[in-house]
Amino acid sequence: MVIEDLERYATEHNVPIMQKDGITFLTDYIKEHKNIKNILEIGCAIGYSSICMALVRDDIYVTTIERDRERYLKAIENVKAFHLEDRITILFQDALDVSLKEQYDLIFIDAAKSQYIKFFEKFTPYLKENGVVFSDNLAFHGYTKQETRIESKNLRQLVNKIRKYIVYLQEHPNFITEFYEIGDGIAVTKKK
Ligand code: SAH
Ligand code: MG
Repeated sequence: MVIEDLERYATEHNVPIMQKDGITFLTDYIKEHKNIKNILEIGCAIGYSSICMALVRDDIYVTTIERDRERYLKAIENVKAFHLEDRITILFQDALDVSLKEQYDLIFIDAAKSQYIKFFEKFTPYLKENGVVFSDNLAFHGYTKQETRIESKNLRQLVNKIRKYIVYLQEHPNFITEFYEIGDGIAVTKKK
């Protein structure tokens, strides 16, 4: 199995994995920061981004969380196919119910967009002092910046939550964030 097989499966089954330039941005960052060894991911889906991150170096360990059974099972299968089961741990749980013991060099938030502030508040206590948080999908297919009113109520509420998260990051007293128009919009957040 190769990475392209995962990308094809995701396209065929409508699994919202990271876009190509987004995953390259993330893995390049990990390549450049050799101190990154312990990674936490919120939103595993079929294991694509976990596998890409673990493949950067063989001293990288990923803990990832997925609440959807079908995707979780697929992720298990994919991680095995890449022989990464010793370095990728998949928790089949709602992220907001997970309890953790370790500290992480990088936390990647890529799950339900409506809950990003909750994820940030729950998981940043597990971030090491010089750690970094990546948040994906802040452009939300361009909707975040759309100025005309979004017709669908559900979509409008979701987009407003993403906008709130962006403001939350911008105004956070203890963290500093840079926003990148890469992939579907990525924020990189560090402790001040
Ligand atoms: N990071 C993956 C894509 C994740 S897609 C990649 O790029 O390869 C987002 C996933 O988050 C979905 O599979 C969804 O089921 C999961 N998810 C959403 N909210 C969640 C939550 N609260 N807890 C755990 N998983 C969640
Ligand atoms: Mg995403």
